Amino acid sequence: MTHKLAFADDHFHDECGVFGVFGHPEAANLTYLGLYALQHRGQESAGIVSSDGSELYLHRAMGEAEEIFVPGVLAKLPGPLAIGHTRYSTAGDKALLNAQPIMIDCNKGKVALGHNGNLTNAAEWRRKLEHRGSIFQTNSDTEVIVHLIARSQARNLSGALGDALNQVEGAYSLLVLTQDELIAVRDPRGFRPLVLGRLTIPTGGEAWLVASETCAFDLLDAQYVREIEPGEMVRISRSGIESIHFAPEKPRQQCIFEHVYFARPDSIIFGRSVNESREALGRLLAREHPVEADIVVPVPDSGVPAAVGYSLESKIPFRMGLIRNHYIGRTFIEPSQAIRNFGVKLKLNPVRGLIEGQRIILVDDSIVRGTTSRKIVRMVREAGAREVHVRISCPPTISPCYYGVDTPTREELIASSNSPEDICKFLGADSLGYVSLPALRQAVNDTKGNFCTSCYTGVYPTDLVQLEVRESNGNAFDNTTLEKPVPVEHEV
Ligand code: SF4
Repeated sequence: MTHKLAFADDHFHDECGVFGVFGHPEAANLTYLGLYALQHRGQESAGIVSSDGSELYLHRAMGEAEEIFVPGVLAKLPGPLAIGHTRYSTAGDKALLNAQPIMIDCNKGKVALGHNGNLTNAAEWRRKLEHRGSIFQTNSDTEVIVHLIARSQARNLSGALGDALNQVEGAYSLLVLTQDELIAVRDPRGFRPLVLGRLTIPTGGEAWLVASETCAFDLLDAQYVREIEPGEMVRISRSGIESIHFAPEKPRQQCIFEHVYFARPDSIIFGRSVNESREALGRLLAREHPVEADIVVPVPDSGVPAAVGYSLESKIPFRMGLIRNHYIGRTFIEPSQAIRNFGVKLKLNPVRGLIEGQRIILVDDSIVRGTTSRKIVRMVREAGAREVHVRISCPPTISPCYYGVDTPTREELIASSNSPEDICKFLGADSLGYVSLPALRQAVNDTKGNFCTSCYTGVYPTDLVQLEVRESNGNAFDNTTLEKPVPVEHEV
């Protein structure tokens, strides 16, 4: 008998990555490559919608971009315009319903949407809209945007979109595709990243690209032009590129955790190199929590740049004492009952020759529930470490995220109700040190208070109307559970 072992990683998961193309004959192929580069932002489902100028074509499925977008599938996504979406989901059987982009046929024409982020007043809006007769297909917050677009009196889509977005609160980096335009929007606080790029077409002309992260442009040899600004809507059509500021300016709340963990270190996020921030975090961690030890060992992959920084600052040698297996899929089919419970060993294995007899500084980017960190500490001790000093390149995570990062409930977050001393005991470590909040701000060069740090402070920049719903259901008001209200005939 076989059964699936879910990799309930003791980590955060980001919700989504988005990618869009305007004006390239191979738009769907480029979007596939863009999603491939953004795969770390979500591995459970992916989708692409393309336009040939008169129709929209959609394909989405469970799995990673590479498994889904085989050549035969891409061939059925014609046209010079496309948007794509990749997401992480915990929604089990309903997961395919959660896949994006979503596609609708409404009074503003055929429209496809891909959303990264989470709205905080969606539940309130849903109640109001249902009261006024709207029929919801799912409990998705993206669906709220769709209903608000359909109800707008504005004559064109960008006007209707602006109307809709001015009524919602929270986080959204949104791509919208119609037959002949691509619209990219970022919420007025700029929680989630979104960047604009340009690609020279060898046969002549230029295409516009939009992506969650710049690493997607690098793969395509495209040029990073700039960030989409918070509160900006960039509309790209045959008549050119137009920037509309659809909402009054609000204090910026860029997600600081993109720099700590989510984004790829080779990306530029919020105008700053992620690798630079992570190395700076490691250096500041070494200054704030020095300890006598023999080697600095990262928990790969995400702990690597901070461990490099710690090692450079402390002059203690950096060693890859833990090796990550990169070839484990989203689920693993266990061969038999007899060899169950591999736990973290499937993902990480210690290099005994490096660790035995050594005093180790173990650098990771965060502790969520604490269970995985505890297993890693035990693993390193079993490999012969004499001392294990855990160093974390962010402050204690005490509160969930409501802006598009899938975090456990407050009760499940070990730091919400335990002191670092208690956590250290739980981990079985010799010492534990977290980077401080001021050091975190310093590492991302946040001199103006432009970053959201709510998961470290428990203080949120928006009303959390949705909070009651999330907590009473024991579940998040999912940000992407929309199945299309009116199907468009060209799903391939
Ligand atoms: S609460 Fe944390 S994870 Fe969520 S947006 Fe703010 S900094 Fe990012």
